[in-house]
Amino acid sequence: MDQPICLLPTFVSDDCLESWQLIGSGGFGQIHRAKHKKWGMDVAIKLLHYNDGTEDLLREAELMHQGGNPNVLRILGVYKTQGQADVSAIQVGLVMEYMERGSLADLQKALNGPPPWPLTFRIINQIALGMNFLHQLNPPILHLDLKPSNVLLDDSLNAKLTDFGLAKIAKSSSKVIEDKDEEAAGTTSYMPPEAFGSSRYVPNFSTDVYSYGILLWSVIAGKQPYDFNISSLLRFRIREGDRPNLTSLDSSQADGLSNVIDLMKCCWDSDPKIRPKFIDCIEVTKNVYDLHRQHVPDAVHTILKQLDNKEKSCSSSAPLSRKPQTLKGGLKQHKEPTKKTLAT
Ligand code: ATP
Repeated sequence: MDQPICLLPTFVSDDCLESWQLIGSGGFGQIHRAKHKKWGMDVAIKLLHYNDGTEDLLREAELMHQGGNPNVLRILGVYKTQGQADVSAIQVGLVMEYMERGSLADLQKALNGPPPWPLTFRIINQIALGMNFLHQLNPPILHLDLKPSNVLLDDSLNAKLTDFGLAKIAKSSSKVIEDKDEEAAGTTSYMPPEAFGSSRYVPNFSTDVYSYGILLWSVIAGKQPYDFNISSLLRFRIREGDRPNLTSLDSSQADGLSNVIDLMKCCWDSDPKIRPKFIDCIEVTKNVYDLHRQHVPDAVHTILKQLDNKEKSCSSSAPLSRKPQTLKGGLKQHKEPTKKTLAT
């Protein structure tokens, strides 16, 4: 593997990171939590399954390191294993902010439903702000894998986007990871119909906007968008015009909800040209968030208490759905048990 030239701080194994724990795993790599010895704070490290595409990855990482937005996960540096004779065995990863409350998907599972309205509206506004920031960069970054497991939550349940640009890099890699059908379905649900139609399909801004429309439904309903999880069937049904069930959303439940429902319908329109830009989405999401903003502190307090009680009550097992596992004797392959039963 060629060593990429980059200006990002490099973290070399064992030099500065200790107390490693494995906290999750996805298609691109494993996520670990570790303590930075000198900074005295926790960081998250994403170790890539494969080193192909590392240079592309580092270019994007560098952009995000320099840029920075409150709703986009900060990349702190690059991680490299030390002193390997065989350079192809060097493992590369991204060192990122550690997000105390895991992902939005974790929250949905823990609550078994949606968060209170004020928090729901803050989350969807923050996601739109983060996406708009990525699209406004020069050159822009398309996310291409926007879904609940790629929205992370800090200790006050503020949302930050992660994994932006990784989908493109994984596709350009010669070793694209073959997902199991059930796992692939988690991503397929958020992909637009045009992605399944032609081999000449090129993703663009409207691809992310479509995913955002589906994500809006998922956040509001507090569950996964479709009640079946077979990727091939999903592809067919989405192309035929199927979308998440709108009759299950009652627009009279919260002020401004009908505006968000109108927005989601626009975002998931089959015609990419009809879909709005994120800057237009923010106009809607910010206005609705403003109607509920004053109740956010109470909502956050209630949910954090609920999560902490749940964690205490199952203290012998994992905190929420994220089971940390101390890393001893090298990096082992780890797959979190997934419970992706789609229920409506
Ligand atoms: P895929 O990458 O295949 O789309 P995924 O998004 O679930 O799947 P990862 O991005 O590897 O996979 O993340 C796995 C889990 O690790 C997340 O759902 C989240 O719980 C946790 N996680 C990821 N990044 C962080 C972070 N920076 N801080 C804390 N937890 C994280």
